[in-house]
Amino acid sequence: MAIKDRITSELKNAILESIRKTEENGNEHGFLMCTDKDGKLYPSREKCEGDSCGMDIDIYPELCPKKKIQGLFHVHPEKLQEEKRLGRKIRKEDIKDIFRVDRKGNIVTLQTPSHADVLTILLTKCNKSTEGTVCITTDLEPDKVGCWTPRAGAANFATCYYAKRDNVLTKNRDIAPKMWIKPLFKKEVIDLMDINGK
Ligand SMILES: [Zn+2]
Repeated sequence: MAIKDRITSELKNAILESIRKTEENGNEHGFLMCTDKDGKLYPSREKCEGDSCGMDIDIYPELCPKKKIQGLFHVHPEKLQEEKRLGRKIRKEDIKDIFRVDRKGNIVTLQTPSHADVLTILLTKCNKSTEGTVCITTDLEPDKVGCWTPRAGAANFATCYYAKRDNVLTKNRDIAPKMWIKPLFKKEVIDLMDINGK
């Protein structure tokens, strides 16, 4: 089942709350997405804040009941930085022209998780602490959430070995997920306005 069809109103509200907090203080905000017995997604009660918000899930598997963790949601703060660059407040009509570009010139949409996000979540799938989904949004286009979930069989001996090596060697902070990791994931862009939550 797609992530979109598993979002409860509780999860949607927690997403909106995280966005509000990011808009307030410019920090990353997020939480774990826990799975119930029907596969629906709920937010963990514990929330995270700050730069490593997307990186701490390994340490806290007990934050979801029965340790059933789908993955992680967090908000990327982009607004303040973008307003600094423009020298003025962001208007709604600016958003469609805002893209992020990495060192190699790859264009990345606002709904794309960072390489570190995707690598970290793949490693948690490799060690079986989560199902490997990472969902992100930004304070620039908060209605749209991008979710990446590993394809069936994508976290195997070879890719997990490669991910571990990549993690140790590069500590990569590139914006764009690297070429090798992208095909391992199914990608969804979810419009929050379409979610009623059951
Ligand atoms: Zn991130």
